[in-house]
Amino acid sequence: MKPQVIIIGRPNVGKSTLFNRLVGKKLALVDDQPGVTRDRRMGDAEIAGLQFTVVDTAGWEDEDDLTLPGRMRKQTEASLEGADAAMFVIDARAGLTPLDSEIARYLRENDVPIVLVANKAEGSAGEAGVLESYSLGLGEPVPLSAEHGEGIADLFGSLWPIIGEKAEAAEAAETAPTDDDEDAPLGPLKLAIVGRPNAGKSTLINRMLGEDRLLTGPEAGITRDSISIDWRWDDPKSGETRDIRIIDTAGMRKKRNVTEKLEKLSVADARRAVDFAEVVVLLLDATQGLEHQDLKIASMVLEEGRALMIAINKWDIAEDASGLFNGVRAALDDGLAQVRGLPLFAVSAKTGKGIDAMLGAAFELRESWSKRVPTAALNRWFDDALDANPPPAPGGRRIKLRYITQASTRPPRFVVFGTRLDDLPKSYERYLINGIRSKLGFEAVPVRVTLKSPK
Ligand code: GDP
Ligand code: GDP
Repeated sequence: MKPQVIIIGRPNVGKSTLFNRLVGKKLALVDDQPGVTRDRRMGDAEIAGLQFTVVDTAGWEDEDDLTLPGRMRKQTEASLEGADAAMFVIDARAGLTPLDSEIARYLRENDVPIVLVANKAEGSAGEAGVLESYSLGLGEPVPLSAEHGEGIADLFGSLWPIIGEKAEAAEAAETAPTDDDEDAPLGPLKLAIVGRPNAGKSTLINRMLGEDRLLTGPEAGITRDSISIDWRWDDPKSGETRDIRIIDTAGMRKKRNVTEKLEKLSVADARRAVDFAEVVVLLLDATQGLEHQDLKIASMVLEEGRALMIAINKWDIAEDASGLFNGVRAALDDGLAQVRGLPLFAVSAKTGKGIDAMLGAAFELRESWSKRVPTAALNRWFDDALDANPPPAPGGRRIKLRYITQASTRPPRFVVFGTRLDDLPKSYERYLINGIRSKLGFEAVPVRVTLKSPK
């Protein structure tokens, strides 16, 4: 069973907004439980791979007892039963109210771990409220804007220590998803782990292989004999055994040349890795964060058209884990204009935490990177996109876009045919690329679009 997280708080603080934000596009289930309370809005929530059931208690107030304690008691008592964690939401703009303090007092007496959420914290209007909320005695608040989607990664950082283990166990126990359209087998996943020296690449590979095959440690000059290693990974989620071929770039480097500067070499390693790999994992060190060098490697991987994901290693010794996760997410979105929402994982090569989730995501990423959209479906989307936002008509003459085809996969490349294409603004091209990404399922994949005028 997935962990269950309840959203609690007085009316109007944004509970339903937060619920919808966490459940995302997935349908929110309405589960009538006659005789218990009223309807419970439950949904499947996911933040960065952390999966849980979220329960919205909005509208649970007891109509027969309109005293403040009566209302909140009814709401919280019923909802806390069976919950693994509760998100107690306050309105950072409005500040604390007596009812907030009342609920907090009740929660402090309860055993369920509480994550204090200071909602409506976008901009500066919520700053005072965030500070004030420390006084509730429920620990550090998570400043959040449910409406704007800010601070969700921070929420992950606070929830992970409480429900992470249960979520992983639930995921592992889940039965295999139905295999619907997997007609073409893709062969072993070619995976490369790249990153700066000491990020933990060798340790991670060791951990994955489950044997002390590679030597680790800061000292260079260690020799190894294999460049790519074939192994079988038992996917705890699907129960399947899956083939992975991993490239050991650090090993190649240490073998070839130990005199070059290490910092330069991590880029060179990454270059070799992209020649080989389908999916590249850029490994960061939680104690170092994301640096310019990392963005350079990431850009190069994307420019080469490889599927990229990021893993923050050494999570076991991360300080201010939520701030770190948040910061890395923001820096990636700022620094890598080519893609949005790269898969981002917190892992520990030392304890093994997060690695299975990361590998599962690597297979999924390869799926979209290898996917072909049938031309009919592609053009249906294309027509809609043009209808919704027609191309401009510079000088009164409309640019004509006629149709689109997917020229290749791995990475996905598309060709748009039309006339007067030289006049098409870059912003319109980006509009199309964003549409391909978000509407056709290429979210975190580098997508190329070429414009062509038919001869
Ligand atoms: P609930 O009664 O606790 O479920 O609250 P709702 O989710 O219905 O939200 C109450 C009001 O607060 C609505 O008008 C929301 O649009 C607004 N709201 C929710 N989240 C935010 C936020 O992050 N920032 C701001 N400024 N308003 C929000
Ligand atoms: P590489 O240069 O990227 O291959 O890094 P190594 O695998 O040699 O690791 C560098 C150092 O970080 C070693 O001392 C490892 O023991 C340490 N290390 C690697 N992964 C972790 C981790 O998940 N947690 C902690 N605490 N230390 C780690």
